[in-house]
Amino acid sequence: MSVRVRIAPSPTGNLHVGTARTAVFNWLFARHQGGQFILRIEDTDLERSRPEYTQNILDGLTWLGLTWDEGPFFQTQRTELYRQAIQTLLDKGLAYRSYETPEELDAMREAQKARNEAPRYDNRHRNLTPEQEAAFVAEGRKPVIRFKIEDDREITWNDLVRGHLSWKGRDLGGDMVIARAAESNEVGPPLYNFVVVVDDIDMKITHVIRGEDHIGNTPKQILLYEALGVPVPEFGHSPLILNQAGAKLSKRDGVTSISDFKQMGYTAEAIANYMTLLGWSPPEGVNEIFTLPEAAQHFSFDRVNKAGAKFDWDKLNWINSQYLHHLPADTLTDLLIPYWQTAGFEGDWNDRPWLERLAALIGPSLARLDEAIEMSRYLFVQDVGFTDEASAQLKQDGSATAIQAVATAIPAEPLTDATIQDLIKQVVKEHNLKKGLVMRTLRASLTGSMQGPDLVQSWLLLNHHGWDRSRLQQALAVAQG
Ligand code: GLU
Repeated sequence: MSVRVRIAPSPTGNLHVGTARTAVFNWLFARHQGGQFILRIEDTDLERSRPEYTQNILDGLTWLGLTWDEGPFFQTQRTELYRQAIQTLLDKGLAYRSYETPEELDAMREAQKARNEAPRYDNRHRNLTPEQEAAFVAEGRKPVIRFKIEDDREITWNDLVRGHLSWKGRDLGGDMVIARAAESNEVGPPLYNFVVVVDDIDMKITHVIRGEDHIGNTPKQILLYEALGVPVPEFGHSPLILNQAGAKLSKRDGVTSISDFKQMGYTAEAIANYMTLLGWSPPEGVNEIFTLPEAAQHFSFDRVNKAGAKFDWDKLNWINSQYLHHLPADTLTDLLIPYWQTAGFEGDWNDRPWLERLAALIGPSLARLDEAIEMSRYLFVQDVGFTDEASAQLKQDGSATAIQAVATAIPAEPLTDATIQDLIKQVVKEHNLKKGLVMRTLRASLTGSMQGPDLVQSWLLLNHHGWDRSRLQQALAVAQG
């Protein structure tokens, strides 16, 4: 049997981290098994679905490297298929038209509440006579379609993640609505649990892998497979992603969509790597830093946890830094230019040698790409100013002397690593200054701050634009002020 799995996002929001993680598990399983990964857009909620969300989902999956083999298929283009399947169930007597008014259903629920019973549909229209139906139709009532669920059924499956699971028919809420009321006595828009099954049958899905929040749908869907007379696929429910407090991850935790992560400066490789680790662990001896194809070689559901997976920013940042620290300077430059541009910096974007030297300089300190903005501000903004700490350094005894001496000693020709080293040595010796003081003063003068990347390399990059001289003049004014 060839494995066929799918990811079925609803375009009612941007690609969410939970959906993306489910997509990762499906993709890894498909690739491990040499199977197919299918993309289906579940856009039946017309009010909340938006084309820009569909685009965001496609872009996000592509960015992460979750290439799909078939699709995207759109449910809104498949209504005929659903209509036929409903007709099949009606013809088999496994579904029926149900005519309750909202008021009748409310009254039913109130009565159940008063008796301390769980709310459920009491199957009252399951066996209407043709005369009763005709009377409801004559009244102008519009029927929903309900699928029969027998109370005494027991539904079991062997979940790929959670093992043996079992539900009682009586706990499924009574005969379930599979299509809303239509304007005529026809069939109205079909509902989630039904269309998913019809699609999964049509797309020959062998393994339904999705989030744990769908577990309660699975027994209903299994009954629908049986009713439609086809084999039931395997099901696997992956654990939820939790915040540090152990609650379901929400917008308040600062994590929402994959495009947010991208904007925050995470690489696609790091996000894909980290999401794989949210619930799965590689076998002993396999490094935690891996590409998706590498993880696919080892992926199996035995190593997917049942317990919720806690989202850990420190771990994600660490993984991201592992990727950033090993990127070649030209690749890193390509990734950084959009951040510098978004920050409004006016760089010479064609000066690749300078940009790549800068990327190589700050790369080893980056955990996220967006950190490059503050780290390299002094190289893009001429009047960068001085932090309080830097100003305090400039006011130390000896700082003014050091600045003046350096300013006088800078040669007209471009600096090199060696000329800078010589120049510092010379200033220390001639003015009898401590080397540490000279270095700290130069850092404060040239970068405006006491922290930052390598001083000599920073100076070389500034010297390229001739900004080192003007910085020294500004620093001198502070030192003497
Ligand atoms: N459309 C559903 C969702 O976005 C997924 C349904 C499924 O995987 O069965 O949660």
